[in-house]
Amino acid sequence: MWIVSLLADTGVNIMGFYYFYLIPVGAMFVGVLSGAGYAMASRKLNMTLTPSFMTSMVLISLLDYLANQYVTYASMMEHLHLPSEYSFFNYLRDICENMTFNRGEGAPSGKPIGMFGYLFKGLEVLGYVAGSTIPAKMALVSVAETPDCLKCRQYYEAKRFGYLNAPEQWQDMANLPFQQRIQALSQSCAPLYERTDAIMIEVEGKTFSEVSTAISKLESKAALGNTASVTFTLRKCPGCDAFHLKASLVGYNEHGSIFNQHIKSVESKSVSEAAANT
Ligand SMILES: [Zn+2]
Repeated sequence: MWIVSLLADTGVNIMGFYYFYLIPVGAMFVGVLSGAGYAMASRKLNMTLTPSFMTSMVLISLLDYLANQYVTYASMMEHLHLPSEYSFFNYLRDICENMTFNRGEGAPSGKPIGMFGYLFKGLEVLGYVAGSTIPAKMALVSVAETPDCLKCRQYYEAKRFGYLNAPEQWQDMANLPFQQRIQALSQSCAPLYERTDAIMIEVEGKTFSEVSTAISKLESKAALGNTASVTFTLRKCPGCDAFHLKASLVGYNEHGSIFNQHIKSVESKSVSEAAANT
């Protein structure tokens, strides 16, 4: 915002850059830069972006935008020695109603666009607010698959992986007639599902270290070229002993393409529940 106001003093209104007179690219760009701070802080502190956090981000962006306009107004008052009766609201009205477009630096300005100016300033505000939420949303998407601890508001970290591999090779299945292949594949996967279910039942209600030990006894690598493997991913909250264990299967279907299937997840009991039980 400080750079925007410095640029405004030299006559460059970066917030007013439009693409095809409609898309407020300048405002979006400034929004993205200002929103990057939220995204970086959220990742650095490993904090989840809750809906209320996103809402406050949007509200603060709106305030930012107004604050920026106010700084421009204050600097105008100072430099142009405008009468003190010229209020901030007069200024806002004027920038809307006297808004002009030009086709780049040095080009002559067009005629003021009058009431349409409100529409374009509105677009500018929307562009800025939307832009400011983009980096945080990107950060959110990158960890959307990661469960989080509701108590600590932190994302779980992956701590341990374990695998169950089907002994059969896909190549042996590929040569079978279609109907037989379907049957052979399902027979190959059946023991994986059974063992996964057994493991998930066994770890239910256990502590993180007990579950970690159980997972460490599984195979340490997913085999290549076999019909299917189950991956167990054990994640733990950095702030407490809450954890999440997920089992998912990757395997070949009868057409020879790879499919990915979530089988089951186990969540640790919440800390309050655990305390009540002891
Ligand atoms: Zn926690």
